[in-house]
Amino acid sequence: MRCPFCHNPDSRVVDSREIDDGASTRRRRSCPSCGRRFTTVEEAVLAVVKRSGVTEPFNRSKVVAGVRRACQGRPVDEDQLAKLAATVEDAIRATGSAEVPANEVGLAILGPLRELDEVAYLRFASVYRSFSSVADFEREIAELRAGRSRAPVAHVAAQDGAPAAAPGPEHPPSHHDTSTPTGSAAGRTVGTTG
Ligand SMILES: [Zn+2]
Repeated sequence: MRCPFCHNPDSRVVDSREIDDGASTRRRRSCPSCGRRFTTVEEAVLAVVKRSGVTEPFNRSKVVAGVRRACQGRPVDEDQLAKLAATVEDAIRATGSAEVPANEVGLAILGPLRELDEVAYLRFASVYRSFSSVADFEREIAELRAGRSRAPVAHVAAQDGAPAAAPGPEHPPSHHDTSTPTGSAAGRTVGTTG
């Protein structure tokens, strides 16, 4: 690696450590010519191909930015957004291809976002899948409910005492504490945001 200060064509690695759970390697380098030190970060290239054909490096913060918009006003914190973006990156890297179409990034976001917050999921899906009518929302909500009724029995057991908690930490108590766990929560909230 060329020295960025004196442009000496060679440099020496003095320290090397994995960052980002091993997704990249940070190296501290020293220039034998001018003696200055600099840092490089090495990671496997993952390119996103946009619809225009332009490729750009996969960028977790872009995923976070897109999802954050859908999560406005929802009980989702930055930690959860960062985790979601990491999950998305893992899923995409697991496909083994060095280039992925941008719409696959969107697809990879849908699943984890549905787990995180159903309202944010509906917002994101409505833009991403270009919902054009209320019927599109109805179909998506029907699928959400169908998915929930297949949820593990462990959640059902929580019903009798406390209101059944949605997966995920610390949802603020809802105003209506009717104890129907699969009730109209998603539909009601969508109505008030539209
Ligand atoms: Zn140098």
